[in-house]
Amino acid sequence: MAEMDSRGTATKLGYSNTPALLMHTVRFSRTEARHRLAHATDLHAVTTPTGSVVEPVLPQTAEALAQGDVGPEQVDVIRKTLAGLPDLDAEQRATAERVMLTRAAEDDPRALTRFGERVRDIVDPDGPPPPDDEPSRPARMLRRQVRRDGTMEFKGHLDLESAQLFENLLKPFEKPYPEGNDTRGYAERAGDAFADVLRMAANCPDLPAQNGARTEVAVTIGWEGLQRSLEEVVLSGDRRMTAREARRMACDAHILPAVLGGDSQPLDVAVPAYATPAHIRRGLYLRDRGCAFPACERPGSVCDSHHVVHWADGGPTKLDNLALLCPGHHRLVHHSDWSIEMVDGRPWFVPPVYVDASRTPRRNELHAPLPHAA
Ligand SMILES: [Zn+2]
Ligand SMILES: [Zn+2]
Repeated sequence: MAEMDSRGTATKLGYSNTPALLMHTVRFSRTEARHRLAHATDLHAVTTPTGSVVEPVLPQTAEALAQGDVGPEQVDVIRKTLAGLPDLDAEQRATAERVMLTRAAEDDPRALTRFGERVRDIVDPDGPPPPDDEPSRPARMLRRQVRRDGTMEFKGHLDLESAQLFENLLKPFEKPYPEGNDTRGYAERAGDAFADVLRMAANCPDLPAQNGARTEVAVTIGWEGLQRSLEEVVLSGDRRMTAREARRMACDAHILPAVLGGDSQPLDVAVPAYATPAHIRRGLYLRDRGCAFPACERPGSVCDSHHVVHWADGGPTKLDNLALLCPGHHRLVHHSDWSIEMVDGRPWFVPPVYVDASRTPRRNELHAPLPHAA
């Protein structure tokens, strides 16, 4: 597991991270997958792709576990205790680990936990710092704090795709009043625009058919690149993304691909083909109810309509070529070896061999279909 994680195997297979891959391959819960991976990376040396060996975080504990001197529960206590300690130099960490291991020879996990708390108190009387600077930052995050008077402060981070969506939603609303007597500064106008966007979202009924016009981001991409979904870099404003990414977003008109032919002339034939019209979107919602990916519970209101055969490859925007997918599973379907087969007009998902060697198709059984759904 540690080796797999250090080599980025999950990302290469199209998953967002190693726990996500473990959930599909060995059917761990997310909690168990994270726990086992953390355990593995703390106790095992890994060889990086360049050939250098990274030593385990807890070498003495790894040794003791291999010898049978401590059990897995005690190892968990030692891991948590050491992880909770402030920045120590290598020697101090080794000492703390050794002290814990000596104690583990006598203590059961509960007693060892209490001893661990004392180790922490001795090394770090002020306690751990507030969680402001987490080592690995997730792609998207939002910290919000409701004040006593009910107003809110927030701070966050968005990935490229969401950031562009956000920018494009805000832009039309943050312009100064056209009458010319707008005294609001930029931050205030942006704040007003944000509030407008929230109001719009609140007014949006829980039907993808009425989600309104999707935000469009113009991306310039060669027609061939879009067809072949090569991992080449294309320009989107002053930002960059891969053709594979552009292809996924083009799948449900999150972007308006200014698709260029061989002579760099826009191919207008492509534009009317991709946008899923409201009536088809509604039919899709009635059929799939929510994300069609097996075991996903996300509702239809957050989903994209995915073209099973991409429109760029001649796939029609018709019900029997579409599947409702939440953003995470939409990404997975485009980037991994999962594929979709339409059987009797419904999407079935064919797992990659490393998830199921027999590649038996599965479907989502969680969204009860309506009796007369198309
Ligand atoms: Zn798609
Ligand atoms: Zn899903």
